[in-house]
Amino acid sequence: MTTKFLLPESELPTHWYNVVADLPSPPPPPLGPDGKPVGLEALAAIFPPALIEQEVSAERWIAIPEEIREIYRLWRPTPLQRAHRLEQALGTPARIYYKNESVSPAGSHKPNTSIPQAWYNKAAGIRRLTTETGAGQWGCSLALAGQLLGLEVRVYMVRVSYEQKPYRRSMMQTWGAEVFASPTTLTNAGRQTLEKHPDTPGSLGIAISEAVEEAAGRADTNYALGSVLNHVMHHQTIIGQEARKQMALAGDYPDMVFGCCGGGSNFAGIAFPFFADKAAGKAVRLVAVEPTSCPTLTKGVYAYDYGDATGLTPLLKMHTLGHDFVPPGIHAGGLRYHGAAPLVSQLVDAGLVEAVAIPQLETFEAGVQFARTEGIVPAPESTHAIAATIRAAKECAKTGEPKVLLVNLSGHGHFDMSSYDRYFSGSLQNYEYPDEAITESLRQLPKVG
Ligand SMILES: *Cc1c(COP(=O)(O)O)cnc(C)c1O
Repeated sequence: MTTKFLLPESELPTHWYNVVADLPSPPPPPLGPDGKPVGLEALAAIFPPALIEQEVSAERWIAIPEEIREIYRLWRPTPLQRAHRLEQALGTPARIYYKNESVSPAGSHKPNTSIPQAWYNKAAGIRRLTTETGAGQWGCSLALAGQLLGLEVRVYMVRVSYEQKPYRRSMMQTWGAEVFASPTTLTNAGRQTLEKHPDTPGSLGIAISEAVEEAAGRADTNYALGSVLNHVMHHQTIIGQEARKQMALAGDYPDMVFGCCGGGSNFAGIAFPFFADKAAGKAVRLVAVEPTSCPTLTKGVYAYDYGDATGLTPLLKMHTLGHDFVPPGIHAGGLRYHGAAPLVSQLVDAGLVEAVAIPQLETFEAGVQFARTEGIVPAPESTHAIAATIRAAKECAKTGEPKVLLVNLSGHGHFDMSSYDRYFSGSLQNYEYPDEAITESLRQLPKVG
């Protein structure tokens, strides 16, 4: 009975996969405030040329520079594991596999893109990077990348997370980054927000505005985003490419692939390489899982909206709850973004990717069951994908179908134990974002497209 399916370092993928090559129609372009497609110069103020090229590329394969593959080898290829004990506990005939992205130094999938982003910026002569972070996972991952590649990193950390996750902050500082609680008084975007809402818990949208404003204002500084953009989705496909080979080692192929969805990158990472098979006619269901408190894919609209709260970024066509949506302080900090990746959104809109929203208590219940069977304490974000997988496995127990289920364990929860504490003490609640509040926020959508 094999538990771990391991690839040797020699099997580390040599290319990232670009799903654009297999989409049913070309992706709608980012638009400027005038409603016209943005020129690439607009992006050049904050991104290096190579990443802009990847952002707009339609090439199926993008070669991974050898120096990046060398750094990936610190923790990749990551294991694919069969969840024998979880299957037993569920009494299901389903075969459950998880791809363990929690083994990276930062504890999540995010270094898969922070490393290449830092590398391409360095190659373009950039000295500093700014970014935002919610739960702290992305800030840690960029801090790690900055440290390994010799770039300064400044992180705007959403205030509620800054207060709830002091050890994520220490970890960023260990890797040499500067960290501020956002909104700050360092930027116009931060000062404006504080004037209107002095007690704001902050949001990813506001923190993005701050980081972008600083990067746009300094020639030696660029901005790095941990999710949402096309190039980030491409970088993460290293996950699904490895998983495809590992499923073959296991002699199986998934009927369903699950990933939690905040900005969409870990979902895209595991699912897009299987989408390539689906586009070629193979039957495989791809399921993006989100919280009922921030139901971007299931209750948002597919429309052009800003990526940040104050409207500094180009307009992206994506599922959105409105750029000034401030989600409640739920515990899966990494899933509290108002939008979702344009590439994931387009596939959901085309009916090629499914989306499901799961309430908070069910996700923690799933996380605890996973920890008590498989041993790993999952990140609160990852528990969403696990909960959806458990739902499907229970369905198999009813029907007797031996489905093959593959789930992305996007990270571990070692820095999120205060959230588990609240779950154990019974102080966590389910929260469904009210439809009226969504309708109100959607009224502020820019009128284009
Ligand atoms: C950031 C994060 C997420 C959410 O971001 P995506 O871009 O949707 O992947 C999910 N899981 C973990 C562990 C994270 O750190």
